[in-house]
Amino acid sequence: NDVIIRVQNLKKYFPITKGFMIKKRVGDVKAVDNVSFEVRRKETFALVGESGCGKTTTARTMLRLIDPTDGKIEILGTDISHLNRRELLPFRRKMQIVFQNPIGSLNPRMTIGQILTEPLLFHKIVNSKQEAYDKAVELLKMVGLKAYHMDRYPHQFSGGQKQRIAIARALSVDPEIVFLDEPTSALDVSVQAQIINLFMKFQEELGLTYVFISHDLSLVRFISDKVAVMYLGRIVEMGDVDEIFDNPIHPYTKALLSASPIPDPKVEKKRKRIILTGGVPSPIARPNGCFFHPRCPYKMEKCEKEYPMMYNVSENHQVSCYLVEKEGV
Ligand code: SF4
Repeated sequence: NDVIIRVQNLKKYFPITKGFMIKKRVGDVKAVDNVSFEVRRKETFALVGESGCGKTTTARTMLRLIDPTDGKIEILGTDISHLNRRELLPFRRKMQIVFQNPIGSLNPRMTIGQILTEPLLFHKIVNSKQEAYDKAVELLKMVGLKAYHMDRYPHQFSGGQKQRIAIARALSVDPEIVFLDEPTSALDVSVQAQIINLFMKFQEELGLTYVFISHDLSLVRFISDKVAVMYLGRIVEMGDVDEIFDNPIHPYTKALLSASPIPDPKVEKKRKRIILTGGVPSPIARPNGCFFHPRCPYKMEKCEKEYPMMYNVSENHQVSCYLVEKEGV
């Protein structure tokens, strides 16, 4: 079994407090609430949803950049949810992240050479500074930059080049899993395709597993194998990417798809348009029953009362919506 990531009942709650001197806990923002999924080696698993749905918090919790409130995060067969800093070190190396904004993720006071050699020396991947330098140059070339770029500073590069440097840094420690947090949304459209092609090339060559966080569904379809749609901290629909895009069941997934352009007019005809009305409800006071019911054109009486369980539509498709019980969905 080639499962490399197994997330079980993951929760991340942020307490809300009132008062200045004496703080009183008045509730929680349930940013990630009982999220479970598996990712296989060399797969690209996409987490999608509107901003505030919990996709980035899920990723940050999995990376242990923030501590989970509850649940299991199994990486390469080990539950890392309770490991301390020292125990986490080998996993920090195995899991890397490329952020949305390359400007914020590269230290402006360090040269590209320093940025690339630092993780190599820290994780003791090389034995000497010279070896670190040589490997850094090799990494720069891999991402399409040149050896003479080593002495330059981040501000001397374009957005696309900075993202290439961030990718080189992420790959420097030989990771197995790379989180891509909206990695192209801050870039010029003309550069986006180049960066995506680079990700696909490295996945092929290095056997990487990607967790891809995005709201760009056209891109998700293009690069992902599996997709999980999140709404107010929970996964509402999940499965193989073709299955979800060709046969979406959850009205929220349908609405997201309605909002994204698709190249195939046959699919366009089959697809019923659902236009989302109203904004995402506050994560502090989520609606009763199905969280989507205030915005759902198909809501039934029970939708307002009880949260729907996760139904298996097929082996490769799960959805949390009562519509599954109706025929002909
Ligand atoms: Fe709509 Fe009901 Fe399905 Fe929720 S469970 S998405 S309210 S039909």
